[in-house]
Amino acid sequence: MGAQQVRDGFEELYGAAPEGVWAAPGRVNLIGEHTDYNDGFVMPFALPHTAVAAVSRRTDGVLRLHSADVEGGVVELRVDELAPGSDRSWTAYPSGVVWALREAGHPVTGADIHLASTVPSGAGLSSSAALEVVVALALDDLFSLGLRGWQLARLCQRAENVYVGAPVGIMDQTASACCGTGHALFLDTRDLSQKQIPFDLAAEGMRLLVVDTQVKHSHSEGEYGKRRAGCEKGAALLGVDALRDVPYAELDAALARLGDEEEVRRLVRHIVTENERVERVVALLESGETRAIGPVLVEGHASLRDDFRISCPELDLVVDTALANGALGARMTGGGFGGSAIVLAEEADVDTITKAVTEAFASAGFTTPRVFEAVPSPGAHRLP
Ligand code: ADP
Ligand code: MG
Repeated sequence: MGAQQVRDGFEELYGAAPEGVWAAPGRVNLIGEHTDYNDGFVMPFALPHTAVAAVSRRTDGVLRLHSADVEGGVVELRVDELAPGSDRSWTAYPSGVVWALREAGHPVTGADIHLASTVPSGAGLSSSAALEVVVALALDDLFSLGLRGWQLARLCQRAENVYVGAPVGIMDQTASACCGTGHALFLDTRDLSQKQIPFDLAAEGMRLLVVDTQVKHSHSEGEYGKRRAGCEKGAALLGVDALRDVPYAELDAALARLGDEEEVRRLVRHIVTENERVERVVALLESGETRAIGPVLVEGHASLRDDFRISCPELDLVVDTALANGALGARMTGGGFGGSAIVLAEEADVDTITKAVTEAFASAGFTTPRVFEAVPSPGAHRLP
């Protein structure tokens, strides 16, 4: 849905033109999975798919919310009555952002919000962060809060952790707020220091495909929390603040110290090797050896499948089929248990790979996957 449609939708709902319209993208993570709650490295880039919000300020403490993508009318709330854990519907994401801003002392006195998103929901492409960041940026602009991208990301993460109740790391929100066109974002999630790494595949005759398996994951419960708790246990057993602090060169010694904690040992091995893979991908991209990142992506997938154990048959089928049909590299991306995989391929091989993956899914009796090309796109911004 375009900006004009969202603007028109707002006017129809609320009877006046919005003060402005903003967009925030979904993301794919090139490499660095589940490292963000271990103070580690990640490397996302923004998708062309965005959440778009038309917003006006209010001064009477009322918050009105509407999504073009959800059944039902306008939801009306009072900003001073927003409370964590009280809302189980989609409105918890934008309300949580308002709550987090007010908790941090920012004078957000109400708003009318209408939004629509082209980021597929529950596909591991971070529709939730896009929703949070677009609302945060709009309110930052309208109430002249002067917050930086990383500050908005922190507030959005707090909204999702505390208000929505999903124990997610900081990657998705930072990606949506801070990514840049034609670049991947090398982010240190410990201090949020970041570096834009040129990532223009088309110029080098390559493409990056996203294959949405259509298998819905659910972040807020179960397995994600277990992995997170297991990583924290590993850090505690090793006497470090976070698994980020285990140097790659000392991995074997660290694993030996974990004794018969087989489960924890696998989680630790994934996190420590994954951080090293991010650093390797950064070095390869910076030295212009883009094709050489392919095998690193494949290593990352094996680690997520065998050590972290968060892949699923559909994701493995994408990776195996793509590689068997000439892909340079492929891996699952996002939280796991469904969602999407990415495939790095020569331009000339894209059609063959797409067809092969689609046919493999049909043969396996899986739902037809959605395949699209991901071009590194702008981070959150105000629309004209
Ligand atoms: P992901 O972020 O990987 O897409 P999540 O489970 O974290 O998956 O977030 C998906 C949730 O975000 C949806 O269940 C819904 O509550 C909310 N959401 C996403 N897009 C929209 C939208 N366009 N309108 C309303 N809510 C949305
Ligand atoms: Mg999400």
